[in-house]
Amino acid sequence: MYEEVFFEVFESLPRQGPGSRSSTKRALDVCVGLPASPAILDLGSGVGAQTFHLAELTAGSILAIDSHAPHIERIRAEIIERGLSKRVQALIGDMGNPQYKYESFDLIWSEGALYNIGLKKALSLYFPVVKPLGYLAFTEPVWLKSKPPAEVMGAFEDYAGMGSVQEVLMKVEASEFSLVDHFTLPVKDWWNDFYTPMEQRIEDLRDKHTGDEGVLAVLDEIAQEPEMYRHYSDFYGYEFFVVRR
Ligand code: SAM
Repeated sequence: MYEEVFFEVFESLPRQGPGSRSSTKRALDVCVGLPASPAILDLGSGVGAQTFHLAELTAGSILAIDSHAPHIERIRAEIIERGLSKRVQALIGDMGNPQYKYESFDLIWSEGALYNIGLKKALSLYFPVVKPLGYLAFTEPVWLKSKPPAEVMGAFEDYAGMGSVQEVLMKVEASEFSLVDHFTLPVKDWWNDFYTPMEQRIEDLRDKHTGDEGVLAVLDEIAQEPEMYRHYSDFYGYEFFVVRR
């Protein structure tokens, strides 16, 4: 039941995690020296928010991968709608099990998704897949302040190994990649395309499922996520990291 309601909320949102076109552009802008039409892999693409930003911001070819089939179906429909089928492709896949050739991509992108396989593993799995001097750009949830309230700690239980920015930088340092830049996503990146439409969606679903106590309880639980951010945004955030092979 939880999963069904979770996807009923999340699948229709413009994106499934914090971010924005301007933050994607800011991270892309530090990837200097990319070829005119870079080969890009977007890992854990969700419904493709950043996939389509990258399609607008580059002349590259983009392969979007996500393990959730309905997300990929939605991207495929948008690819056709936007006439991008020559440059953008979307496939169902597991980023924990890459099957790409050695040195296939100029740029690997992943917003809010690498934590699903763990950053250390992601850095080692994808280093061989990036071309020499190519980039990996990713966002990771991070603690911005020490000693978060227990309620906040509990909400991040699933993000195994979540650490501070410094701790992520140490993981980068221990990998074969070199750090290029990093910055914290602004608070508006959590609201504009993510929590504001999420709260609206939850309200619509409360109307749709009036009287169904089970669904309403799950919606209440999901609604705690933006509410927690409203109160405790000082304690945690998403950090964009750009690293280079
Ligand atoms: N990048 C998108 C965005 O910012 O809107 C989606 C971020 S969402 C928080 C994480 C995404 O990773 C989900 O779409 C989920 O289906 C996908 N995902 C989780 N585990 C995965 C895996 N092992 N392989 C591929 N995708 C995965």
